[in-house]
Amino acid sequence: MSLEDMYQEIILDHYRKPLNRAPSLDDEAVAVHHSNPLCGDEMGLRLRVVDDAVDAVVFDGEGCSISQAAASAMTDAVIGRDLKDALDLTEDFRRMMHGDEPTRADDLKDGIAFQGVAKFPVRVKCALLGWMALKDAIETYERGASAHTVTHEE
Ligand code: ZN
Repeated sequence: MSLEDMYQEIILDHYRKPLNRAPSLDDEAVAVHHSNPLCGDEMGLRLRVVDDAVDAVVFDGEGCSISQAAASAMTDAVIGRDLKDALDLTEDFRRMMHGDEPTRADDLKDGIAFQGVAKFPVRVKCALLGWMALKDAIETYERGASAHTVTHEE
């Protein structure tokens, strides 16, 4: 099995059996909604912060397999991390989706499987949707706000 096939399997697995997919979260700190009109992806994300760390994050929504699978892998990679660390990891993923080698490949966990998506510019926003929603949720939390909606236009 090639690395590409293996990554494909990981992506399909997250799509079929997403982690932390739920419409609500007890004691949530922030709820954000992001959409990607280019593809029709919708993503609601809820974040709970304890001691300046990601205590829990859940997502729901409708969208292509890449957007849903990437969000699932993201939740697994960031739960338990300090907010600052989660933002740093988000930046590593974002750079990877723009063609750079990730510097925190191990920390990205299954997120690394999306590296090949960088070759398909129209899908990059799909892979980034959950991560950008997380970044927004953390920044919204840090501003002391509680809800936010963003539409990613071209
Ligand atoms: Zn999409």
